[in-house]
Amino acid sequence: MKIPFVNLGLQYESIKNDIDQAITHVIADSAFVGGNYVKKFESDFADKYGVKHVVGCGNGTDSLYIIMRMLGIGPGDEVITAANSWISSSETISETGAQPIFADVDSVYYSLDESRVEELINERTKAILVVHLQGQMCDIEKLRDICDSHGIYLIEDCAQSHFSSFKGRYAGLWGVAGSFSFYPGKNLGAYGDAGCIITNNDELARKCRLFANHGALTKHQHEIEGINSRLDGLQAAILSAKLRYIKEWTAARINISGLYCKFLVDIPEVILPSVRNQSVHTFHLFVIRAKRRNDLMGYLKLKGVEASIHYPSALPSLLPYKELRDNNKTPVADMLQEEILSLPMFPELKEQEVRYVADIIRSFYLSQA
Ligand SMILES: *Cc1c(COP(=O)(O)O)cnc(C)c1O
Repeated sequence: MKIPFVNLGLQYESIKNDIDQAITHVIADSAFVGGNYVKKFESDFADKYGVKHVVGCGNGTDSLYIIMRMLGIGPGDEVITAANSWISSSETISETGAQPIFADVDSVYYSLDESRVEELINERTKAILVVHLQGQMCDIEKLRDICDSHGIYLIEDCAQSHFSSFKGRYAGLWGVAGSFSFYPGKNLGAYGDAGCIITNNDELARKCRLFANHGALTKHQHEIEGINSRLDGLQAAILSAKLRYIKEWTAARINISGLYCKFLVDIPEVILPSVRNQSVHTFHLFVIRAKRRNDLMGYLKLKGVEASIHYPSALPSLLPYKELRDNNKTPVADMLQEEILSLPMFPELKEQEVRYVADIIRSFYLSQA
């Protein structure tokens, strides 16, 4: 059996008519940048998410940068973020001119450890950029309270947590703004780069929209200098088409995670993901911690199963942060980078395939015993 890490082709096959039609319409209307399809997706996403403003932009990295720039974060400021994430969350802090400060993650949910955050706050701290990694939200209530009590912004990186929730409220609706990526492999993915900002703050929404479009809401009427980070029409139309299926796909991911847990639960060398109480984990990734992780990954590959690591280096271990390393003590993130393994996860994965992956993992440890 061959099991890829994700299979976007299968998903396309299942909704081929919707996608082909969406693309045909955009081309027929020459609505390539901005325009009705972008407006429609923004309003579709706003409705489904229950948020006032959705600002489409070029990708889920720009969306973080735009939010922070428009909140006035810049040189001399510090922003606290998780040590275990994709580099976008820290590189965009640097891009504003501010300094990323890495906080460790916890060893159960692998998300920003709220007990380690408060000690990092000082008079330069302007925001906490939380990352809801793998599809699971951080302890967002505690983090929001910390932000409120210090008068700093809470910004949410939701690139891996579309429709994840805590106490019935979606990721991205807890702080001043949420940032989404629609990179093809994300739970809601375009057919190229795409992203958006969500917020209930009118003024911030307006500023973000302005900045993402050369500082102009109306052509040639530049109010400020901005950047070019627009959602294109093809991606917007594809996203609107796919948005109709997101609930189904998320349910399938949750079901698959249940199967993995059922089939792997008796393997002592494997630690399964924990789901936070009162929360919905949308399993962008299904991440286990495994003894002899690298050997296991090689063995899976030999047997046709493509596993992956998110991420092989915690952010403070990456070259660009060499100078910061001594000041950033993140033992849990350092430990996780050696043990975590992401197993194949996509809505179309079949029960027999999940069983096959689990059987390979079991036979690996039996053969090593
Ligand atoms: C994917 C991702 C991003 C960036 O998204 P792009 O659209 O690829 O720029 C940011 N943060 C996290 C946590 C991500 O997983």
